[in-house]
Amino acid sequence: MIRVLDRQTANQIAAGEVVERPASVVKELIENSLDAGARCIEIRIKGGGIELIEVADDGTGIPAEHVPLALERHATSKIRTIEDLQSVTTLGFRGEALPSIASCSRLEMITSTGQGAGVRVEVHGSQLVSEKRVATRRGTVVRVRDLFYNTPARKKHLASRSTEVARITETVYAAAVAHPEVSFRLYSDNRELLFTPGRGDLMEALAAVMGPDIIATLLPLSHQDDDIKLTGYVGGRSAARSSRDRQLFFVNKRPVRDSVLREAVEDAFRGHLTTGRYPLAALFLEIHPSKVDVNVHPTKTQVRFVEPRRVYSATHRAVRETLARQKSFPQLVLKPLPRSSDVEEQPASMVKERTVERGQYEGARDLFTVTDGEPSRGLPELEPLGQIHYTYIIARDTLSGELFIVDQHAAHERIYYDALCQGDERVASQDLLFPLTLDLTPGEMAAWESAAGLLEGLGFRSEPFGLNSVIIRSAPALFAEEPADKLQEVLSHLRKMLSTVERTPDSDRARKMMASCKAAIKANQRLDRAAMAELLNQLARTKNPLTCPHGRPTAVRVPRRELERFFRRT
Ligand code: ADP
Ligand code: MG
Repeated sequence: MIRVLDRQTANQIAAGEVVERPASVVKELIENSLDAGARCIEIRIKGGGIELIEVADDGTGIPAEHVPLALERHATSKIRTIEDLQSVTTLGFRGEALPSIASCSRLEMITSTGQGAGVRVEVHGSQLVSEKRVATRRGTVVRVRDLFYNTPARKKHLASRSTEVARITETVYAAAVAHPEVSFRLYSDNRELLFTPGRGDLMEALAAVMGPDIIATLLPLSHQDDDIKLTGYVGGRSAARSSRDRQLFFVNKRPVRDSVLREAVEDAFRGHLTTGRYPLAALFLEIHPSKVDVNVHPTKTQVRFVEPRRVYSATHRAVRETLARQKSFPQLVLKPLPRSSDVEEQPASMVKERTVERGQYEGARDLFTVTDGEPSRGLPELEPLGQIHYTYIIARDTLSGELFIVDQHAAHERIYYDALCQGDERVASQDLLFPLTLDLTPGEMAAWESAAGLLEGLGFRSEPFGLNSVIIRSAPALFAEEPADKLQEVLSHLRKMLSTVERTPDSDRARKMMASCKAAIKANQRLDRAAMAELLNQLARTKNPLTCPHGRPTAVRVPRRELERFFRRT
């Protein structure tokens, strides 16, 4: 027999899609508050959102006579016809959230438009149990208690309370960053988890969400072409994390999870970060509503772009341009040791505690931290002072006199890699006084044949000599010691790559990275002053001097003020 489902059942089925978990309730209620023009939104949860979710706003409120309607399915004040969907600018439009939430909880709503009395309704599982006129200020409070009390199957599927709190927190964070002009407060079991002042400052909202330390690393981004606009921030290297928890993407102010944007950002960061590190990003994409479908999923956290390639390349370009502007080496921040007098002058009873505290400074990690360079500084002109461990070049900024430490291998790798990628701009090569012959295995010979351009880009000119050897006529001008060994090493690795990977743009990149790494000067290699100077000089001319092609840093600055602070001269 076919029948029309009763209201409660129909609502519960719809709720299955919209109200997956407490965080989805929070998301829907916040969106309603934002759509109502709220300037201030307070969220309180108890027991991971199962016991209570309360969202209070100072928005327009709902006129008393419309309250029953707001709780009906497909009742919305935001669109009238399907055409309106093309230009919808509100966060909600499906008219599903309130009835869905009400169908699987005990819902209380107090609302007032600020004119006349407000109204308080209680709905238990779609059943209106009370409706009263009340005196209240303008705005709306929605309290959702005992979520899923009447759908035990769903309740069983929830994660631990702390996981649900984490998901709610993520939801509120995203909303707070999307709307710096709105003040958000979040309490979980009476503990404050977030406060944003709502002064319209994106950086302030980001700092509230990700911690104040990130501010110094933020690089502003903006990009505009015909109908795509991108704004926001990406973080420098020191803000990167081993997970993606610092990535926030918004499409027309709506928080989304989107692989097009994520991949564009992460690809643009390639070579700036080592693998397994994920950049901080808070990106706002504005695009005509007709170029993006937000109605892919009832929770509206996924979107479908009409032209995903264009979105990808605009985003990729914007991030790369932003990163290219940051040409300043990261800097060391030294932590001063406690004064020795602090220890001596303590009464005996406190000395023990102090010693424990001093222990913190024993690990080198606690002695200093590294932050991103200040982009305004630009790249210094460096004068080498010497080499330590035959691995690091100690140099001085000729202008400010500040100390720099440069990793000679990472720097040289970057120089080679850039030369290979530029193609026309090869590294300087020098004819050998006595050409060298190099015997190769058949596999290495095949690698040699396939890689003529690559080897020349590195500064090696060689010709076949008999069946299984080549003759090296010229080698890189800088650090040309043992060119035969270097070439052999490159070829033996190339041989392995030839047999294991197909030629794709990615494998081409991998070959270049490998070749620059093997050909580059190693650690534990002595350099004279002239070679150091040339290396620093060439590094400064590369496109991305801050990191080697694998994303490891090439140099670090020790600012004068850090030395002064450390030695307590200030
Ligand atoms: P939708 O947001 O898709 O329109 P909802 O079920 O979430 O559907 O809400 C139904 C209607 O109730 C909204 O269209 C709006 O008119 C009203 N409403 C809900 N929450 C609020 C609020 N916090 N302030 C003002 N009006 C609200
Ligand atoms: Mg809504």
